[in-house]
Amino acid sequence: MKRKGILIVVSGFSGAGKGTLMKELLKRYDNYALSVSMTTRQPREGEVDGESYFFVDKETFEKTIENDGLIEYASYCGNYYGTPREYVERCLENGLDVILEIEIQGALKVKGKFPEALLLFVMPPDAAELKRRLEDRGTESPEVIRQRLARASEEADGIEKYEYLIINDDLDECVREMNDIINAARKAPVRNRRMIADMRSQLNAVVKGE
Ligand code: 5GP
Repeated sequence: MKRKGILIVVSGFSGAGKGTLMKELLKRYDNYALSVSMTTRQPREGEVDGESYFFVDKETFEKTIENDGLIEYASYCGNYYGTPREYVERCLENGLDVILEIEIQGALKVKGKFPEALLLFVMPPDAAELKRRLEDRGTESPEVIRQRLARASEEADGIEKYEYLIINDDLDECVREMNDIINAARKAPVRNRRMIADMRSQLNAVVKGE
């Protein structure tokens, strides 16, 4: 029986290094697919439409919501962000583990709809490091950096709702650790309902002497 992929939600404060971490994970292991989100935010320098995000206007985003084209969406620092449904469902059916790199409101919506989704939270070693990474990135104005740090402080209140914390200190170690956590989580009964149901019916058949 072909296994269905699992849904992995990765959140973390802006500047926690999630993007780099995901890129490295996909480079090293071939069982992952990264969902490309839709957003109304303006592209940053170097971002490519269809790779970093699908960059759309507000009207297109709202139309996609109406057509039930998104698994979830949220508003973050004045812009919409959402996960297109079709790609995610197709990858899961094909046995790929799909990663959604999304913020906390969206993460909780996904968990509500898909209780077997695995929720991971990436944190930098400390808050000063977070501020430094955001400033060094040089892509946001001081005002946007301030908004993102304020949002990080709000999101910190919800961290306990995630299943595992990933401290992004050493990239190499962090990628390995993340893959190990996902492999272990795959063995949880909640993610193996089909196999458990099969085992039950086989046992019943054995008991009845069929
Ligand atoms: P950024 O503007 O830095 O690319 O992303 C801002 C925040 O939006 C990040 O926390 C990122 O994880 C989150 N985000 C990106 N795509 C989505 C999405 O499809 N849905 C939700 N809910 N959040 C997203």
